[in-house]
Amino acid sequence: MFAEETNGLVKIEIGERRLSLNMDSDMIYYSLADRTYRRTRMNDIIELRYANGKREARVLEEHEKPGIVSAFYHDVELASLQYPELKKYVKDYNFLASRGNGLRRIYGGRIPIVPPDRYFSLYIKISEGCPWNRCSFCNLYKDRKYMPLKMDQIKKETEELKAFFRNSMMAMNGIFLGDANATSMNSHDLEEILMYLKEEFSMPFYAFSDAFTTPLKNTDFQKLHDLGMKRIYIGIESGNPDILRMLNKKMDLDVARDFIGKIRDAGINVGLIVMSGFGEEHVKSTTNFLDSIEYSRGDIVYISPVKEYGNFHEILLNNGIQEDKGIAIKEYEEIRGSLRSGLKIPVVVYSLDEAMY
Ligand code: SF4
Repeated sequence: MFAEETNGLVKIEIGERRLSLNMDSDMIYYSLADRTYRRTRMNDIIELRYANGKREARVLEEHEKPGIVSAFYHDVELASLQYPELKKYVKDYNFLASRGNGLRRIYGGRIPIVPPDRYFSLYIKISEGCPWNRCSFCNLYKDRKYMPLKMDQIKKETEELKAFFRNSMMAMNGIFLGDANATSMNSHDLEEILMYLKEEFSMPFYAFSDAFTTPLKNTDFQKLHDLGMKRIYIGIESGNPDILRMLNKKMDLDVARDFIGKIRDAGINVGLIVMSGFGEEHVKSTTNFLDSIEYSRGDIVYISPVKEYGNFHEILLNNGIQEDKGIAIKEYEEIRGSLRSGLKIPVVVYSLDEAMY
C-alpha cells in the first residue's frame, strides 16, 4: 500500500487499485484492474476501458454511481488504517452529489465541455454560451443565450470558487475561461477580466474561440499573451467547404488560417479541433488544411469523431452520411497517421463522451 498528499492531491495505491482525490475530498480517478472511473466536477462518472484493443468510454447511469463511489471511499478508509491522516477524506455518495450541485449553483448550470487537457483547470465562466450557436452538429449551448458576464458577477463567481476549492486549488493546472468563445467579448473588458484573474490566481489562461466571429473583432492577442493567455482552442471541424456548409459553420478557411497565424504570432499556442467521419474528401482536405499550419511546441491537434444528435441525424442522412463509429475511428487514424510523420506535436482524440467538466 502507498499513499501521498501533494500539491492539493491525494494519491493512494492498494494492490492494483489506484485512487486519486483532491484535498477537498472530491474523487477524481479510481482505477481497477481492467477499467478506470473518472468523476467529473459536475459529478458524472465516466467509465473508461479497453475492449478488443479499443478504448471505450461510457457515462454511468445515476443508479450505478453510488456503488462505485462507496467502493472508492471504502478504499480510502482502508488506506487510512495505515495512514491515519487520510481519515478526513473518507466521504460518501451524498457528499459528492452535493459537491456537484454546489458547483452547478456557482456556475448557474452545467459546464458542457472542456478540451481534454483542461479537465484539471479551474473553469471560470466569463461569458455565457456561444455567440454563434447555430452549427448544425452542436447542441452544447442551445439552452442558453450568449452573454458576456459583468465584472461583479465574475468577481462573485471567483470568490465562490476559491471557497469551494479552498484546499485543492493548487491542484489546478490553469484557468479555463468559459464558455464557448471567451475571446469574442469586447477586448477592453476581456483585458480587465484577465488582469483581475491574474492577480487572484497567477495561473495560465486557456479558452475556446471560433475562427469566424472572433476574427471580425479587434482582439489584441499580443495583449492577451502578455496577460497570461497560453492556448486558444479553435473548432475548425473540416478543411472542406462543402462539409463546413453542412455543419452550418460560416467559416472561410483562408480567414481561419490567417487567424490562427495571428494568434501564434502573438506567442499563444493553438489547439485545433477537427472532426472525423465525413468521408474521403473530408479526410484529404482536412489533412491538407492542418498541414498548412506552422506549429510549435505547445500546440495540439484534436480529432473528434462525429456524434449525432436530434436534427443533425437528418442533416447527415440528407448528405448521404451516416454516423458510423468504425468509419469515424478509421478516419481519425488516417488523419492522425498522415499528420504524425511531419508534426512534432500531439495529435489526439477528442471524445465528446469524455469531455465533460
Ligand atoms: S461555434 Fe462552437 S460552440 Fe458555437 S455552435 Fe458552433 S460548434 Fe457550437
